[in-house]
Amino acid sequence: MSAGHDHRSESCLELFERLSEYLDGELPPALCAEIEAHMAGCEPCVRFLRSLRNTVAQVGAVPSASMPDEWKRECVEAFEKRFRDRGRQPV
Ligand SMILES: [Zn+2]
Repeated sequence: MSAGHDHRSESCLELFERLSEYLDGELPPALCAEIEAHMAGCEPCVRFLRSLRNTVAQVGAVPSASMPDEWKRECVEAFEKRFRDRGRQPV
């Protein structure tokens, strides 16, 4: 109850779906603003974006519009772990 934000993991998952497009600059400004607004209050998402950027820097490209399932699952697990660390269960 003392957490300073009430983001739900659901919106984080929605964010995942858009991140590659976001990095690709394919999203309309309104959606970018939405993502950035979410990032402002969600540290796990910021960290995830950072690691995604690193991957892009190494691979040289955003891994297309759809992330590999395996990768996505990894991200989701990492997120769920963070929520658990905070004593919150993703629904
Ligand atoms: Zn988030």
